[in-house]
Amino acid sequence: MHQTLILGAGLSGLTAAYELKKKGVPFLVLEARSRAGGRIHTVAGSGLGVPMEMGATWFGDKHVHLLELIDELGIGYFDQYGKGIALMETMSFAPPQKFEVPPNDEPYHRVRGGTRALIATLVREVGQENIQLNTAIREVRLEADALVLTDQNGIAYRCQSAISTLPPRLLFKTVNFQPALPEQLLHIMAQTHTWMGESVKFGLEYARPFWREKGFSGTIFSQSGPATEVYDHSNVEGTAFALKGFLAGEVAVFRQEERLALLTRQISRLLGPEAADFVSYSECIWPQEPFTHTPYDGYILPHQNNGHPIFAKPVLDGRFYFAGAETSPEFGGYMDGAVFSGRLVADNIARPTTGEGL
Ligand SMILES: Cc1cc2nc3c(=O)[nH]c(=O)nc-3n(C[C@H](O)[C@H](O)[C@H](O)COP(=O)(O)OP(=O)(O)OC[C@H]3O[C@@H](n4cnc5c(N)ncnc54)[C@H](O)[C@@H]3O)c2cc1C
Repeated sequence: MHQTLILGAGLSGLTAAYELKKKGVPFLVLEARSRAGGRIHTVAGSGLGVPMEMGATWFGDKHVHLLELIDELGIGYFDQYGKGIALMETMSFAPPQKFEVPPNDEPYHRVRGGTRALIATLVREVGQENIQLNTAIREVRLEADALVLTDQNGIAYRCQSAISTLPPRLLFKTVNFQPALPEQLLHIMAQTHTWMGESVKFGLEYARPFWREKGFSGTIFSQSGPATEVYDHSNVEGTAFALKGFLAGEVAVFRQEERLALLTRQISRLLGPEAADFVSYSECIWPQEPFTHTPYDGYILPHQNNGHPIFAKPVLDGRFYFAGAETSPEFGGYMDGAVFSGRLVADNIARPTTGEGL
């Protein structure tokens, strides 16, 4: 029998594991994907190796829980590059407006080496042997003296308590509970927005920062697309260069070559023909990631029900806990929320239980 099982090796699950390990509480992390990180997903550009953030990227000075963890793990960070002229494309038939973004009192930061540095360090601290990949939990059953979790291969794991770090809507859609969870909880889970789950991200590596050389910052906002936002994504060392941003969700239906052709045409129009001379292209279509996103039945507002108080109370005889960015009362949906909720749930699991919930 396991003492504690943690569902998900994203930032929240790994933070919970890291904290439990410090407290001497035994655990095993079960992760559906073949990699740790979840919505933190840095891929190395295949040409120059720029750490390309396909998921979470930025944070600010307000994100104190994340900053504490970054400091504790000895990981550096740096400010997002923004020097030069930014472009705003409001009409597809008119030239873009040019503007300079004034220095921000609250600059936003990027993790040195990419957010994967955070995940790799946590995995090292937690211990690879305490993380089991390729294990998607499909059922949670309450028995007299234990919880029994069953994975996609029918393998059962008995435990005293379990922590879910899945986005609540994903948990609602993909995991079967015996007995069923309370109606109101199910309703809130179904109606909880998964932050950025609809995003399509791209990265383009370049041998030279041709946009900087022309006085552009690399920042583009566009209402005509296919890229809706673009930012300079060069490495901190200033040795490898990249642009990275978001594509309009509609382009997910195209083949990759078509998306890329539309994208390079747009960036060439805005920053110059050198845009077509990219070294590598990366992309991630998050709506097609079954361990992050499930389509909504109606319209759900961004961050809807993130940090809802209902997630603070464990269920199934106080054995099944909710964590993960979307359950966090602080900065719900963000990396900071993932860290906060991971720490909170570890504190609650380690505390002698009163049976009264969190
Ligand atoms: C494109 C994009 C851009 C973003 N940008 C930012 C940003 O700039 N700044 C910021 O602060 N945040 C950003 N975010 C949000 C940030 O990524 C999340 O807040 C954070 O990574 C969530 O961590 P988590 O551990 O709570 O959830 P997840 O990372 O979603 O982890 C959940 C884990 O559970 C696993 N899992 C799923 N189903 C099962 C199952 N049945 N059994 C076992 N495991 C399962 C998943 O594979 C995953 O690893 C962005 C997200 C995306 C997608």
